[in-house]
Amino acid sequence: MSTKGIINIECPHCGDCFDADFWTVVRGDSDAYLKDLIISGEFDLLACPKCSAVFSHEEPFLYLDPRLELLVFVMPENYLPEKEKWLAKMKEDYAALGSAGLGGILEGVKPEYFFGVGELSAKLARDRDMEEESEVLSFLAVDNKFKTARVKAGEARRRDLPFCLPYSGKAPLRNGALSAVKKLLSVNDALPRLKNLLNELEALSGEEIPFITRKLPQFSGPEK
Ligand SMILES: [Zn+2]
Repeated sequence: MSTKGIINIECPHCGDCFDADFWTVVRGDSDAYLKDLIISGEFDLLACPKCSAVFSHEEPFLYLDPRLELLVFVMPENYLPEKEKWLAKMKEDYAALGSAGLGGILEGVKPEYFFGVGELSAKLARDRDMEEESEVLSFLAVDNKFKTARVKAGEARRRDLPFCLPYSGKAPLRNGALSAVKKLLSVNDALPRLKNLLNELEALSGEEIPFITRKLPQFSGPEK
């Protein structure tokens, strides 16, 4: 669940003060609405209850999406002049999070530190594009009686791959994945990341596929 706090804000237009809600933790995996606001650039917008002026106001928050391996500390852009100080503070917060555990959901996830929600917005927009392609791919895989395994999110971003890998056979191994990918490319050649997947699989020397994860449930199409 996402969590929020309340902060007293002074309207830059009329000077009126009012209490505004701010998200302190955003769970991208369970709050699609907030994720949409971040992508569309509306996340920081406030409307003054007195004069109705709309203005942006950033507060620090934490963005979490364990499924997509995201743990992002987002500081307001205007903290940049004191970047080192805030980086140290965020790293301290991260160390505190580690001891609290978060139920182990973020084990192995590398924290990222952003200044300004714009940086996060760009990242999530690209992720969305990757997710959409992955959903099409997973439907296509099911239609063709293939199973799907999950590609590690960080690896998918780095190599520009779909978040899922189709395969035939009992376990996701190179040969079964290669034949599934080739078959799916023959029925749909409009999935650029599937072509990247073919190249990555062809480049592997053994049967093990290093960029998939068995920690999470298998990829199963739309998860909204
Ligand atoms: Zn106002």
